[in-house]
Amino acid sequence: MTANLSDIPEPLRLAHEISGVNSKILAGGRQKCGCFGCGKIFDSGEIDLAIYTEPSAVQCPYCLMDALLPESAGFPITPEFLAEMHDVYFSVV
Ligand SMILES: [Zn+2]
Repeated sequence: MTANLSDIPEPLRLAHEISGVNSKILAGGRQKCGCFGCGKIFDSGEIDLAIYTEPSAVQCPYCLMDALLPESAGFPITPEFLAEMHDVYFSVV
């Protein structure tokens, strides 16, 4: 079976897009964050935002992937949702 972008459910595609432009959202204040690269859930206070000189995508501080979702983006930061995202974006080899 071939993975096709159009087969990916809309919320997952949106969440993926937001992970690429998450710095503005993160600058809005401390919040819960989740990474669909490594599955970790943590507080955005753990991210050193000062190291991002050209803000766009803030990486996960644990796996350094552009797979970080801030809670105020409107997506559920739950192990289930992160696992679903991981399956879609990282399980295809
Ligand atoms: Zn991670």
